[in-house]
Amino acid sequence: LAKTQLSPTFTPPSADNPIRINFNENPLGMSPKAQAVAKETIAISNRYPMKEMFELRKQLADQYSMPETAVILTLGATEGIRVVIEALAAANVQLVAPELTFSAAEDYARSNGMKITRVPMTKTWDIDLAAMKKAVADYKGPSVVYLVNPNNPTGAICKAAEVEAWINSKPANTLFMMDEAYAEFADDPNFRSVAPLLKAGADNVILLKTFSKLFAMAGMRVGYAVATPALIAKLQPKIGDNLLNYCGIKAAMVSLKDEAFIKYSRASNDTSRKILLQALNALNISYVPSNTNFIFHKLNVPLKEYQEHMKQAGILVGRAFPPADDYCRVSLGTPEEMTYVAKVMLEFGKKGWI
Ligand code: PLP
Repeated sequence: LAKTQLSPTFTPPSADNPIRINFNENPLGMSPKAQAVAKETIAISNRYPMKEMFELRKQLADQYSMPETAVILTLGATEGIRVVIEALAAANVQLVAPELTFSAAEDYARSNGMKITRVPMTKTWDIDLAAMKKAVADYKGPSVVYLVNPNNPTGAICKAAEVEAWINSKPANTLFMMDEAYAEFADDPNFRSVAPLLKAGADNVILLKTFSKLFAMAGMRVGYAVATPALIAKLQPKIGDNLLNYCGIKAAMVSLKDEAFIKYSRASNDTSRKILLQALNALNISYVPSNTNFIFHKLNVPLKEYQEHMKQAGILVGRAFPPADDYCRVSLGTPEEMTYVAKVMLEFGKKGWI
C-alpha cells in the first residue's frame, strides 16, 4: 500500500494535473494484469468479440451460481439502468426512488414517460425505506423500486434485513432494481448483497453491477445485470446484438480473477477513507458513515466557494447534490493524494474556508 506520508517524489497537483476526487473513480488504475491483456487485445480488435462475450457471461454466471441466461452484459451499470427502465416503462408504471441517489434511473424514467415518485431522505440522509414501501403500497399500478446500496452520493447502506424482508414480502406488481455499484467497499456488517436472493430464485429483483469502481475500469464501460432468465430475456431486446468492446471484455475477465488487485483496491480505499475521516474529525465536521469510495460531509461554507478554493489548490471535489445543499461529496483518491487533501482541508479549517 502507498504510504500515508507524502513521499519526496509526490508532485503537488496543479490546474493542469489536479487531484480528481469528483466522480467516484478508482484512482489506482486498472490492475496491471488487466492492462496487459487490454493492450494485447488491441492487436486483435479487428475482430468482433462474440465468443469472448459469452465467456465473460459464463464466468459471471458461475460466480453467482446462476445459469448463463440469468446474466446480461451492459455498457457499465448505466446501460443496465437504461434497459431495465426501457423494458418496463409504461404510462401507468411508477419509478420509486430516493430523493438523493444516482440520477440515471430518474433521468431514463422521465425520458420514457414514467411516473416518478421521489421519496425524501431521513434527517440523517439515509434512504427512508418505510416511506418507499408506503409509496409502493399507495400506488395502484406497477412499481419499479430503484435502490442504490450502498447509496450514492451519501455512502450510506440500507440494512440487509430490512431490504430482504421487503423483497421477500413480494409486494404485488413490484420490481426491485438493485444497484450495487459500490458493494465491495462496504464494511458495515448490516450490508449484504441481494445475490443470495437471486440464487434462491427471487423473481422480483434485478441486480446491476459495474467494473467501473472496484476494478477501476470506468473508461472501459463494462457492467452487467443478474436476474431470472425470464427477466433477462425482457431486457435483451433493448440491447439487441450490440457488443461490448473487446479490450474491456478481456480486462474484465482477468480482473474478476485478480484476487491480489481486488484486495489491494479495497485496502487502498480503506486507508484513504481513514485519512479523510481523521481530517474531518479533527475539523469537527460531520459526515454520513461511508461504505463506498467517497464520503459525504457537511460544509460550513457555501459549496461553490469551497469548490473554487479547492480548485485553486488543484483539487476537484464533487458537485452540488440538492437538497443536501450544505454537503460535499469527496471521492477517495490514493492514500497519498488523500494525505495531501487532508493537509489542505486542515489549512482551510484555519482560514474558515470549509
Ligand atoms: N450506479 C451508481 C450508483 C453509480 O454511482 C454509477 C457511477 O458513478 C453508476 C451506476 C454508473 O457507473 P458505470 O456506468 O460506469 O458502470
